[in-house]
Amino acid sequence: MVTPESLEIAREFYSSLPASVAQQLLRSWANGWTTSFRMHETQLLNCIFCCFGQPDNQQHYLICPSFGGVINCVLGPCLAEGFLSHLCLVNCSVLSAARLIVASLSYHSMNNYPVRFLLRLSAAGDLDGIR
Ligand SMILES: [Zn+2]
Repeated sequence: MVTPESLEIAREFYSSLPASVAQQLLRSWANGWTTSFRMHETQLLNCIFCCFGQPDNQQHYLICPSFGGVINCVLGPCLAEGFLSHLCLVNCSVLSAARLIVASLSYHSMNNYPVRFLLRLSAAGDLDGIR
């Protein structure tokens, strides 16, 4: 639960970080990931980590078991569970901030890679478009 006290702790934590790191947190806090849902694209995608029936949106990626598993492999397990902890709004720590930043950067790297193009073709049933 977000309270005025937890927001103040998050603000102090945010302020203690280098600007480039803090900017990545702010991007996530502002729902700034460029997902197909946020960008109101005509073809809305499912989770790019293949969760069946789950949307390509930031809310899902913060609790996505497939994506979380990858991040756990890279940075170790999350010490505090829950959407708000994953968003680094409660239980703020350097590890939780690193997890969120790695998640954001990884998503955007995947999103800008040909995998997104391939997912669109697959969703449209246009496998002949893959060359
Ligand atoms: Zn997923």
